[in-house]
Amino acid sequence: MIAMNLSIKIFIALVLSVIVGLIAGEPALPFINWWIAPIGTMFINLIKMMIVPVVFTSLVVGMTSLGDTGKLGRIGIKTILLYLFTTAIAIIIGFGIAGLVHPGIGLQMASDAAVKVKEAPSIMQVFVAMIPANPVASMAKAEILPVIVFSLFVGVGILQVGGERAERLTKFFDACAEVCYKIIGIVMSFAPYGVFALLLPVVAKNGPAVLLPLISVIACVAVGCLIHAVVVYSSLARFWGGHTPAQFFKGMSEAMLIAFTTCSSAAALPINMKNCQEKLGVSREVSSFVLPLGATINMDGTALYMGVCSLFIANVFGIDLTMGQMMMIILTGTLASIGTAGVPGAGLIMLAMVLQSVGLPIEGLALVAGIDRVLDMFRTCLNITGDGAVTIVMDQEEKRYTAEHKAA
Ligand code: ASP
Repeated sequence: MIAMNLSIKIFIALVLSVIVGLIAGEPALPFINWWIAPIGTMFINLIKMMIVPVVFTSLVVGMTSLGDTGKLGRIGIKTILLYLFTTAIAIIIGFGIAGLVHPGIGLQMASDAAVKVKEAPSIMQVFVAMIPANPVASMAKAEILPVIVFSLFVGVGILQVGGERAERLTKFFDACAEVCYKIIGIVMSFAPYGVFALLLPVVAKNGPAVLLPLISVIACVAVGCLIHAVVVYSSLARFWGGHTPAQFFKGMSEAMLIAFTTCSSAAALPINMKNCQEKLGVSREVSSFVLPLGATINMDGTALYMGVCSLFIANVFGIDLTMGQMMMIILTGTLASIGTAGVPGAGLIMLAMVLQSVGLPIEGLALVAGIDRVLDMFRTCLNITGDGAVTIVMDQEEKRYTAEHKAA
């Protein structure tokens, strides 16, 4: 309910910024830039403040939720690889659609970042840079990839320690992640003011031209999600998961609806577990492991949204993304979606991180933030459908494994 109210407030802020911006126009720009725009910068800083803490804690929690290293070995690795694979495809679909539709072309925003776009590093440089020589320094500099790698190591380390100490640490990180989500909730409660302050200068400068690109972003995300579900999940269900696409989507429909309306993978998890067990015949053991893991680390919709939005923001700021930067977005976007919490609006924070990783201006977030709730509905729906698709696949795999072992 609170989230709903907030999204309405953010939407109202968007509409107000358009109305006030159109009325005020260019003559008011000096005033707006001096008094209003800094409030937007404060909001952006609040978002940036949470990137490292939330990535670190939620990734550690994601890894430790695997329970023990034995399970991690058998179905865990396969599950994670499949989750990562579908996520990477989702970003590529996002890129593909945004590449065709070119959302944001024609809308001009200027930023210092547009001038100093980083030169893309070579692939080996990316791998070298992923290993943090000093994790604290990487955190201080908000270097996301090294922080992700370090978090994964910490998670695996905790799993290997096992026993009571691991349990205590897991609880500790779980609580820290919870604190981060609460803080993000507080930060997001400022979003209406932040969005207004960030958009007002843009509308005052550009006039009504700002609106059309936003509609095309929504269309890109919605169509992208549909394509991903129909092509990728139908194929997984039919060729690997032992269900026809119709059976699969029918079985998933209630959970999809809950996800669509609540914008929270976590909120849809219980109904997803129930549906997978009762309607798709997945064993309790597999569903209670693969689904919570998916709700924590598998976010295909969020990844697709990152692909669309990063291209949109690049277009708006007149930046041509190089192939290297696109590869970087696929890599960071895939990893970022792992660190995205299954709560409303979490993807927006992670988008900030993806933009930062390739030197795209974070100010572009303001444009997306105004319509983020709508985008969140589509992406969350895809997120939990992806969890379901991988779950039926892993269930088939486990059944095969058990049958083989019985036979042997
Ligand atoms: N709301 C999404 C989810 O719960 C996460 C996101 O914001 O992308 O799956």
